[in-house]
Amino acid sequence: MAKVTLKNLSHSYLEKQNNNADWALRDISIDWKDSGAYALLGPSGCGKTTLLNIVSGLLKPTKGNVLFDDKDVTTLNPVERDIAQIFQFPVIYDTMSVYDNLAFPLKNRGLSDGEIASKVKEIAEMLELTSTLKNRASGLTADGKQKISLGRGLVRSDVNVIMFDEPLTVIDPHLKWVLRSKLKELHQKINRTMIYVTHDQTEALTFADQVVVMHEGQIVQTGTPVELFEKPKHTFVGHFIGSPGMNILPCEIKNGEVNFGGQKISSHNAIKKSNFSKTQIGIRPEFINFSKEGIPVKIKRVSNTGRHKIIDTECTGGNIKILSNASTEIPSGSTHVTFNKKFTYIYGDNWIIE
Ligand code: ATP
Repeated sequence: MAKVTLKNLSHSYLEKQNNNADWALRDISIDWKDSGAYALLGPSGCGKTTLLNIVSGLLKPTKGNVLFDDKDVTTLNPVERDIAQIFQFPVIYDTMSVYDNLAFPLKNRGLSDGEIASKVKEIAEMLELTSTLKNRASGLTADGKQKISLGRGLVRSDVNVIMFDEPLTVIDPHLKWVLRSKLKELHQKINRTMIYVTHDQTEALTFADQVVVMHEGQIVQTGTPVELFEKPKHTFVGHFIGSPGMNILPCEIKNGEVNFGGQKISSHNAIKKSNFSKTQIGIRPEFINFSKEGIPVKIKRVSNTGRHKIIDTECTGGNIKILSNASTEIPSGSTHVTFNKKFTYIYGDNWIIE
């Protein structure tokens, strides 16, 4: 087990770089605590796999360093780093039995037959593979094979970090939930540093204690699921996390007052001056209420999801989404809304103004 530190990491796949777009990763610095459960969350192309491959040693960063327990491992290869990596698709030996697949990493490290048998038994029980141990791996379903891959990563006790790169892609939707809860349970049991890469917010938020949100090669926020939901530090986090995401509305700031569509808005963060090229209000649909006074809006559409209603409205400043309980009576035509000040934030050039 190890603490993982990334220091000013940047990576480009190009020989020469002219602008930000030429970098797959830009100036990443972060500390991942020993035994922590982390998720790397972001859309396709934001740099998650590049970062994971740099941590595992499959890729050498263009700039910066990787440290395990404060020891610089930037130039070490994956084997020297003692890492377990679980990929999107199962990596198993089809011709071997389930038992032999799980035993393989342990045999390679010279463990005795007794030690191997007890480790394999333990991990097979955790992953509910016990009844299939004697079967050939080739006969298993995609889910079963991916469970073996997970088991092969989890069975070793000498690994510094276990890394998962979108491991549930091949898993049936209803089984995803089961395996995700299982992984969380496994983390609590075996207490290793785990880094889980995904573009799926539910996977990230249910697995990790701390979620690292990436956007265009940068880390835009690291926080608990609640922190990311309640106080997004960047408009991208507001928009990417939540369903529907945060409303991001253009506003003007004059003499410390925030103005949206001709209305004065009270916000959580106080603004003294604004020298940004763009200022925006961020307010989640959950924190907007219908009222007698406030911002005049027109109801455009109401979608009932069973548990909630999502209401699309239009006003002078832009379009606003509102989320209410399914039982809430929605006014028709023209009405007013108010923003809950505690969860209304002002952003300057996409970053929260602190
Ligand atoms: P995905 O979820 O689709 O795997 P990701 O967040 O993991 O995306 P990366 O695969 O790390 O993102 O890609 C980051 C950027 O680097 C992208 O612009 C991608 O096109 C580019 N890239 C990735 N691998 C290579 C490569 N081998 N050669 C050149 N460019 C690459």
